[in-house]
Formats: sequence, C-alpha cells, structure tokens
Amino acid sequence: MHRKISDRLFERACRVIPGGVNSPVRSGRSVGVRPFFVKEAKGCRIRDEDGNVYIDYVCSWGPLIAGHAPVQVVEAVMKAAAGGTSYGIPSRLEVELAEQVAALVPSMEMIRMVNSGTEAVMSAVRLARGFTGRNKVIKFNGCYHGHSDCLLVASGSGLATFGIPGSPGVPEELVQHTMSLRYNDLDVVEEAMEHMGGDVAAIVLEPVAGNMGVVPPRQGYLEGLRRICDRYGALLIFDEVITGFRVALGGAQERYGVKPDLTCLGKIIGGGLPVGAYGGRRDVMQRVAPEGDIYQAGTLSGNPIAMAAGLAMLDIVRRDGVYEELEEKASHLAAGLGRAAEEAGVPMTLNRVGSMGCGFFSRHPVTDFETAAQSDTRAYAVFFREMMERGVYLAPSQFEAFFVSLAHEKEDLDATVEAAGEAFRATAA
Ligand code: PLP
Repeated sequence: MHRKISDRLFERACRVIPGGVNSPVRSGRSVGVRPFFVKEAKGCRIRDEDGNVYIDYVCSWGPLIAGHAPVQVVEAVMKAAAGGTSYGIPSRLEVELAEQVAALVPSMEMIRMVNSGTEAVMSAVRLARGFTGRNKVIKFNGCYHGHSDCLLVASGSGLATFGIPGSPGVPEELVQHTMSLRYNDLDVVEEAMEHMGGDVAAIVLEPVAGNMGVVPPRQGYLEGLRRICDRYGALLIFDEVITGFRVALGGAQERYGVKPDLTCLGKIIGGGLPVGAYGGRRDVMQRVAPEGDIYQAGTLSGNPIAMAAGLAMLDIVRRDGVYEELEEKASHLAAGLGRAAEEAGVPMTLNRVGSMGCGFFSRHPVTDFETAAQSDTRAYAVFFREMMERGVYLAPSQFEAFFVSLAHEKEDLDATVEAAGEAFRATAA
C-alpha cells in the first residue's frame, strides 16, 4: 500500500495546521504512522486519496452507527440545506428532535441543543453548579468529557494516548474544584463524599467508559453512584456522548436501569454532523436561560442541517431489531478477534458492551484506567500498522474503542478476523 498523495497532503497540512490534524488522536503518532487522507466513504469502507480502501472501525469516533453516508441521512441533509443552512431563529426540526430524544431517553425531560460533546458536558456542569450552588465536581480517571478547562484532569482519549496529565493553559484555579477518582470503585467516592459531599455539585462519568479503551461499569457501580448523589444532594451526570443510542436505544441508562439527573449527548444524535445536547430533570433544566438564570447559548445551536441529520439517524436506530443486529455483529467480531489472538499466542483482554469494544494488549482484566494503562501499547502499535496494511482501520490508539456499525456485514467482519490472525502473528513475532 502506498500513500504518496496522503503523505504530500500531510506535509502541506503540517505547515498550516498544528500537527497536521484538527484533533490530536487523528495524527497516528502513538502508533507510529502518518494519517491517510480520506477521499470518500460509504458503508463501512473508506477510500483514501491514493485509492486504498479500509474497513473502518473508528466510524468518525462513534457517530456513524449506520456506517458512512447512509442514504436517509444524506437525503435529509440535502433537503435541509436547500431550505437554508442556518437561521438563528427557531425551526420545527429542533422541536421534533428534542421531542424524539425526550421520548427515547425519558430522564431527559427537557433538552438544549449545542454543537459538540464538549459543549454539552461543559454546559451540564455549569448548570449543576448553578442549580446546587456548589462548586466541586467529581470525575473519574480515564473518562474524557471533552476539552473544557475544568474537566481536562486525568482525562482519557488523546490525553491518555499521549500521556498528558492535564494541559498547560488551564490555570490551577480552574481545576481546583475538580476531583478525579478511580473508575469503578465506589469506596473512593464514599470516602471523598464523606469529606466534601456538601460541596459537590455533581458526579460526572461515562456510564460505560469509552475513552480508556472500553471499560464497562461493575455491577452495582452506577446504582451506587446514584445512591451517593441522592444522599449528598449532588447531581448525577451521565456523559452519554458515546453511549447514547449506541449501547441501547435509550443509552447506557436504559441498558443498566439507572436514571441520571442530567445526560449529555453528542455523536450519533448529530448523524455525523457537529451536534451535542444536554438535558434532564425539568426542575434543573428550567434554570437554563432564558427560562432561568444560568447562561448558555450558541449561534449555530439547533442548526437545521444537523437537526435533520439527527432525525434521520434516529429514524434508522428506532427500527426493530437494530440493537440485536449490532449485538450479534459485534459479538461475532469479538469472538473472532479473541480466537485469533489466542491462536497467535498474543495476550488480549477483550471488553465489549454492545457494538463498542476494545482489545487490550494485556493478560489482566481491565476495569479502570490504571489497569488499562498496563496494556502493551507498543504491541498495539504493531498490530494497528499490520491491520492498516491489510485494509482494516482501527483507532490509532490503544485507549480508544472500536465501533461496529449496521453497515458492517458478516463478510467484512470475517475479513477483519482473517486480517487480525495475520496481524497478531506478526505482532507476536
Ligand atoms: N464526552 C465523551 C464521552 C466523548 O467521547 C467525547 C469525545 O470523544 C466528548 C465528550 C467530547 O465531544 P466532542 O469531541 O464532540 O467535543
């Protein structure tokens, strides 16, 4: 496989874009590659500028649950765009999408649309602080909630990939109210709350962690956090930017039966366009301006093209049997990968929840960031490169998820497993 055109584009990009990319993990640095540049994508396949084709398991980092360019979404986008690209005035599509989200995720009694997951979580935290009149926020090591200042502490995703504990440019004063604790450990939360529970506005987490690889919540963990929040009057915020409409139609809260006070969405709800949303208890959301006193706004929020794409995407995932199909496909893939790793003698711990998963190059169970971090990232890098050469695109980091979409057919999954067998053998060599 040659990537001459991509390489030239990357050189040009590096002159005008920091690191040549508009989001750090895309760079491929941690796995020792330069990024390829996409020409077009359809279904589960991406074609790069040099004509190479890859089966894609990144799926734009989660939004593309129906694969690239599903006809319904593309048609909805084109129709909406022809009617105007932005109004800055309310339109019907915003109401329809909010109504549908409220129906599918019942804890979200009221919803505010924003433009990204980062904005959704940042706004939800501000709301929780305003509502409770408290400042402190508890988050968990390895969870990523976007790049807003106060949440950029012991974060997952790109920070985990590049081993960055926080970021210069975030003043100490802005993170002094953020406490990051070990994921999946209720005792440390109990202990922290005993000391400062009365000052904690919110506990925020990914109910299934998807930014330190994939780490499911232990049995009783989410319920325990719910109880602790109730006891101390803190709000429970589920960051379902990845898990919303991914691990079940109603998200992780439906799958695990735990109701948060506030929920943050992104990715799938925008059908591949830049969208986020936050919402939850009516009495809390009524504090958002202009109904309430807690300010949050956006020039492009509720953008008609993005709303149309989101509505089309929800039409797709609401169909009967969608989550069963995703479960079946992802379990087929996971079983195949597990077998292939074992046959090659490569230690691998495979975590999976529905159609999101991660193969950790580790022989130990992975239950939190500390155990995820013990993975052999060098072996992952070799495996990643071997897979890429065989036309399979995985996340260019050990600490990210693979996503299976409706567009991945059994032949694609089998081809992936076959490539993985060779790639594991090369990794073990
Ligand atoms: N929350 C979670 C769980 C995420 O995975 C991400 C992004 O990957 C974000 C928030 C931030 O979303 P965005 O990149 O749209 O700002």
